[in-house]
Amino acid sequence: MLRGALKRPFRALAYIIPRHMKDFRTAREKMVQTQIAARGIRDERVLQAMLKVPRHLFVDEALQDQAYNDYPLPIGENQTISQPYMVALMTEALELRGSERVLEIGTGSGYQTAILAELSEKVYSIERIPSLLEKARKILDKLKYFNVVLKVDNGTYGWKEEAPFHAILVTAGAPEIPQPLLEQLGVDGRLAVPLGDRFSQSLIKVTKKEDGRLIRQNLGGCRFVSLIGKYGWKE
Ligand code: SAH
Repeated sequence: MLRGALKRPFRALAYIIPRHMKDFRTAREKMVQTQIAARGIRDERVLQAMLKVPRHLFVDEALQDQAYNDYPLPIGENQTISQPYMVALMTEALELRGSERVLEIGTGSGYQTAILAELSEKVYSIERIPSLLEKARKILDKLKYFNVVLKVDNGTYGWKEEAPFHAILVTAGAPEIPQPLLEQLGVDGRLAVPLGDRFSQSLIKVTKKEDGRLIRQNLGGCRFVSLIGKYGWKE
């Protein structure tokens, strides 16, 4: 049996990869096909990143079996890991090609951070809740995402020392676009942010033109936890 397995490398792999890892890989392929590609995400690099990043490692063990399902999941502290499709839609909106410096507000589980790290040069991510940031840091380190810098702070002020950014992503719902983020967006930069009231929002993409003009596009309805702080909501 061993000789036969070695002749067929894929069979051989089946003996090495534990059964549950294979199941997660299969779940991930199904997620990309049925929730993401089927709903119109076309950016091949985004699809590949979502196939690669082990989303189940970003949630508690008790929820791992649900990690590839079509909905957000709790990550503690009343926060959530976003629905896979929403992660794909926001990421595609940033039009990443691999050389960008990206700012993310709301690290949460760190899953979206990992997807951004796959697709860009360097990711700066800010989270206001220290315990979430520490959990995210552990798993991002374990998965060897060395192009990620994290800090605990109020992200609505952005990260002035590292500006400008080619792309900015806000993963919590806001009443308006925080002004500092618009200032820290580079020319031709893309920013995506859920805007609306505390219960429902629209995903808004903003592109900054050379003359400073801001072009807004509405990418559809969504529902996020609240962005807290100045330029956001009261706690
Ligand atoms: N991208 C994350 C989403 C987490 S939910 C994921 O998929 O796991 C949004 C996160 O934004 C929460 O963790 C919340 O604590 C954080 N957040 C809310 N307001 C913030 C602010 N002003 N600055 C930084 N993080 C904030």
